[in-house]
Amino acid sequence: MSQNIAIDGPAGAGKSTIAKIVSKKLGFIYVDTGAMYRAMALFMIRNNIDGNDEQAIGEMSQKADITIRHENGEQVVFLNGENVNSLIRTEEVSAMASKSSVVPRLREKLVSLQQKLASEEDVVMDGRDIGTVVLPNADLKIFLTASVKVRALRRYKEQTQRGEACDLKSIEEEIAKRDYRDMHRETSPLKQAEDSVMVDSSDMTIDEVADKIISLFNK
Ligand code: C5P
Repeated sequence: MSQNIAIDGPAGAGKSTIAKIVSKKLGFIYVDTGAMYRAMALFMIRNNIDGNDEQAIGEMSQKADITIRHENGEQVVFLNGENVNSLIRTEEVSAMASKSSVVPRLREKLVSLQQKLASEEDVVMDGRDIGTVVLPNADLKIFLTASVKVRALRRYKEQTQRGEACDLKSIEEEIAKRDYRDMHRETSPLKQAEDSVMVDSSDMTIDEVADKIISLFNK
């Protein structure tokens, strides 16, 4: 049987960075579920779907074929056969993903894809509902958080390094808004699974967090 580690938590807690390191060290595959929701969001934007029109989002999501592949250890997301990796990290896509991901029909489609992947391979999977909904029987569940301030500062540094103009205050506001939506939606809200381990990364280095998760797994 395959082994699974679930990492959930709010935007900017460092889930993907940590999950990548942990998966590499354990020889597992890293599955970034946020990227799948982002690919769906891109599909909605391209089809001029209103982010508040749940019916239209639900219907349109059935026309999107999302698949992932791994190339040189990196996850590549395909939307109807097109590699969309370089198109899904914009603020526009983030905002749409946070809205369109509330729609049950869209979620069902992605959750079954995620469950299939995890049943076939050893995975470290990160998202919002992995420990609660997608992989309730995961071997280890981590709830990774950090304060809004710390998370905003991390995103600010990332964007500045990429040469993108950005404003710390508005990043902070955007993160707080996304947290609220993720935690208060009806379907699969972001919440800590009862049997998960909470790790607050505000005052920890990336390596400290990764080592902690690996030692929890080895136990
Ligand atoms: O993690 P990331 O920021 O890439 O996720 C983008 C959006 O997708 C989040 O704001 C969240 O609303 C949604 N998401 C989700 N369930 C997941 C992963 C992401 O609803 N498992």
